[in-house]
Amino acid sequence: MARKILVVEDNPDNMKLVTWILEDEHYEVTGVHSGEECLAQVQKDHYDAVLMDISLPGMDGKEVTRRLRAMDQFRQLPIIALTAHAIKGEDDDIRASGVTDLITKPLDEDVLLARLRHFIG
Ligand SMILES: [Mg+2]
Repeated sequence: MARKILVVEDNPDNMKLVTWILEDEHYEVTGVHSGEECLAQVQKDHYDAVLMDISLPGMDGKEVTRRLRAMDQFRQLPIIALTAHAIKGEDDDIRASGVTDLITKPLDEDVLLARLRHFIG
């Protein structure tokens, strides 16, 4: 059965790119455009992993991650942060929110797929 990935990304071009990469590897992709939508969507379906953009309008990816981690059923959910920030302090801050791992944009397809395979096979 295909692994299901929830992609949280507000930029349509990035969403298209990530979806294309994942579907090409036979992952099943659901895309949402905000943190609020993410928190609603995880209640509706089961996901094997979340790809979380950090810069989102409204609630940012760190806050969404903190809220997911506060719920028992999402404590172990692989959450991979995607961030354009490459500043050390910012990375620490993102990791402290509870993400499983962090990938820096521009997105490297091989890096993304390797991390996903590592966490969910
Ligand atoms: Mg963004």
